[in-house]
Amino acid sequence: MARIYNFSAGPAVLPEEVLKEAAAEMLDYEGCGMSVMEMSHRSKVYDKIIKEAEADLRELMNIPEHYKVLFLQGGASLIFASVPMNLMKHKKAGYIITGQWAKKAYQEAKIYGEAIELASSADQTFSYIPDCSDLEISDDLDYVYICENNTIYGTKYHTLPNTKGKILVADVSSCFLSEPVDVTKYGMLYAGVQKNVGPAGVQIVIIREDLISDEVLPCTPTMMKFKTHADNDSLYNTPPCYGIYICGKVFRWLKAMGGLEEMKRRNEEKAKVLYDFLDESKLFRGTVRKEDRSLMNVPFVTGNAELDGLFVAEAKKAGFENLKGHRTVGGMRASIYNAMPKEGVEALVAFMRKFEEENK
Ligand SMILES: *Cc1c(COP(=O)(O)O)cnc(C)c1O
Repeated sequence: MARIYNFSAGPAVLPEEVLKEAAAEMLDYEGCGMSVMEMSHRSKVYDKIIKEAEADLRELMNIPEHYKVLFLQGGASLIFASVPMNLMKHKKAGYIITGQWAKKAYQEAKIYGEAIELASSADQTFSYIPDCSDLEISDDLDYVYICENNTIYGTKYHTLPNTKGKILVADVSSCFLSEPVDVTKYGMLYAGVQKNVGPAGVQIVIIREDLISDEVLPCTPTMMKFKTHADNDSLYNTPPCYGIYICGKVFRWLKAMGGLEEMKRRNEEKAKVLYDFLDESKLFRGTVRKEDRSLMNVPFVTGNAELDGLFVAEAKKAGFENLKGHRTVGGMRASIYNAMPKEGVEALVAFMRKFEEENK
C-alpha cells in the first residue's frame, strides 16, 4: 500500500487513523454483524453514532445550547438556496463577493429576493479580502453573507465583517474545524464536509435557534426548511448515514489531537513552511495579499504557464497529487487541510526547491 501526498481541494485528504478504523469496522461494526452502511438510521446503534457525533462537534467548537446542529445533504451549493429561502424574511440581503463560491451564493439568492453586493474583490482576481469595517448596510437587510475561506483563491477573513447588528451567515466549508471560532458571532455557519472533515455528501449547519421558523419563502421544499431537520434531530428522512459516521470519527480524532487550539497551532506551523518558502523563492510566488492568506488553501504560480504545467506534471511523478490550480485560475494550489501532515508540506517544499534549482 502506498499513500501519496494528496493536496486536493476537496474531496480531500482524511486522517489515516480514521480510514484504518473505518476499514476495520467495515464488515462488522462493534459486533452488530453489519456495516454502518447497512443499518437502519432508526436503529439504536445508529442513533448513538449520530448523537455522539453531534456531542463531540459541540464540545470541539464550544457550540452554545441555543444553536442547533443539522446534518444535511445536497452540497454546500444547495445551501446557497436554503439560506435565502429560510432567512430572507424581508427579501433583502447583503453579500460580500470574495470569490466564486460567494458569487454563486449571491446569484442564487437573487432568484429569491434582492441580493445586494456590499463589497467585492473581483477587481484583483479575488486575491484579497475587502475592507469590511464600515460597509453600507441598510436597516432592512435580513443578513450579511460571506464565504469565510475562499478555497479557490486562498484568502481568508482574519477579521469578520462589521455587520452593524445584522445576522452574519458564513460558508466555512474549507476552514471548518481548522481553528477555534466564536460561534456566537454568527447567526448561521455551515460547511460541506468534503474539504476538511469527511466524505462528500454531508453538510453541517450550525444555526441560532431563533432563526429557525416556519416562516420561510413560499414554495420552500420541506427538505430545505431548516425547521424540518431541526425538529427531527437531522432524522426527518434518511440522512447521509455513513458520511456522518466518518465525520464523527474525525471529530474524535480532532479531540484526541488536542482540539481546535492545537489544530490552529499545527496549521499555522504547517502553512508557514510553505509561505516562507514562497516569500524567499525566485521562481515561485504566492498570489494572495499576505495579510489575507488562508491556512488551508495556498495558491502559487511561477509566472509562466508552461513552467506551471511542467511543475504539476513533475510533482505528480514524485508523489504529490492534485497540485493543479482551479480550472478558472490556473497555476498551482496546495490544499493543506487538518489531515495533511507537516512532513507532507516539508516534502513539497523540498521538491519545489529542487525544481527551482533545475529550472533557473
Ligand atoms: C467546495 C465548496 C463549495 C461547494 O460545495 P459543494 O458541496 O460541491 O456544493 C461551496 N463553498 C466552498 C467554500 C467550497 O469550498
